[in-house]
Amino acid sequence: MTMTRANDDALALAQRLIACPSVTPATGAVFDAMEAMLKPMGFTVDRFVVGEAPDGPVENLLAWRTTGKGPHFAFAGHLDVVPPGPGWTSDPFTPEIRGDLLYGRGAVDMKGSIAAFVAAIGDLPDDLPGTISLIITGDEEGPAVYGTLALMDRMAAREMRPDLCLVGEPTSSARLGDVVKIGRRGSVNMWISVRGVQGHVAYPHLADNPISKLVRILSAVEAEVLDDGTDWFQPSNIEITDLEVGNAAHNVIPGLATARISIRFNDRHSGASLIERIRAIAATEGGTVEAKISGEPFLTEPGALSTLVSDAIRDVTGIDTELSTTGGTSDARFLSRLCPVVEFGLTNATMHKLDEAVAVQDLHDLQRIYALILERALRGETLFAASQNDIKRAITAVARMRDADAGDAVGIGHSLKPVADFGPDRAPP
Ligand SMILES: [Zn+2]
Repeated sequence: MTMTRANDDALALAQRLIACPSVTPATGAVFDAMEAMLKPMGFTVDRFVVGEAPDGPVENLLAWRTTGKGPHFAFAGHLDVVPPGPGWTSDPFTPEIRGDLLYGRGAVDMKGSIAAFVAAIGDLPDDLPGTISLIITGDEEGPAVYGTLALMDRMAAREMRPDLCLVGEPTSSARLGDVVKIGRRGSVNMWISVRGVQGHVAYPHLADNPISKLVRILSAVEAEVLDDGTDWFQPSNIEITDLEVGNAAHNVIPGLATARISIRFNDRHSGASLIERIRAIAATEGGTVEAKISGEPFLTEPGALSTLVSDAIRDVTGIDTELSTTGGTSDARFLSRLCPVVEFGLTNATMHKLDEAVAVQDLHDLQRIYALILERALRGETLFAASQNDIKRAITAVARMRDADAGDAVGIGHSLKPVADFGPDRAPP
């Protein structure tokens, strides 16, 4: 195998990726740029397009390079970006360096970190045995229906399973390296509806007011204490996010009242268990619940992988990293079914904002950190040997997860579409 080094550093590669507009869902040119970087470095590149409008088509890229028997280290990320919107100082898809910063949509979320990882591979010694793979989707910022899950299907079909996975999302807060995510909370939305009997306000005995019942349900929901947090997670929380009656008349008792709640939950719960819990409360007043699980929680307990990452961060930046589980869901929730996963990337202060920018020095530092992580991971082969049974279990887990996490949303008088898939244990009421 011929292995040429990446001729360009993280800065140059980031500029090339930013220059390819890739508003989610992404296809085409940005993947051409990615392939052009990886192929000369000895990677096999498998690109595929899946899905149809409105959630697709989406392009995904799986790339791998094996240089002998050793651990398999995977890097996961996305090449799609959120729409730039009007008001940028310079064109969002023309990378521009002003002062110490590189500006452009995707600079931190997350073309910059993908560029740093590719450049880091080019820095590795030639004699390192093992497999490096890149799991790159064009649909993380959008519906994510045809993104990482489709890539995991592709990997399962090839019986590819990494021993370790790093997701390059921008996890850093104030300084590069200050925060690494070792888990994320799960998320579930529920729509509670109560039917009553419409009638005249002056004749309440002929009507049945659903608002009174809904208020009692919501009061009970608000009083629920889900948990007090865990060693690694903050307490789960329930928020009432919408109330809807739509009654324009002051003298009419309405026939229907609905509310929406959103729960962010830690690994003491599952989406299904919370749905059952809220359903039981709603049932006491004759209410019904429909639900959509956006993601289950995941946790990679602090261990070999988090130590590998935080050591490399300290060696380059001198910073002691905080291991965190805060923030929204991410594609790591899917990948965590395959192997230990942590997330670490650039600072997130400007992500999704106007004039998104990355410090040029951060790109160089991240390249050095990723190179250290890679080199040490590939040298530590005894830590991460995976058995065939593990691989089979992972493939089954992917199939189960697809059932649980890829359903459409449910809505009652809202903009979301009717539910298509409640999963086997979540039949609609
Ligand atoms: Zn991102």
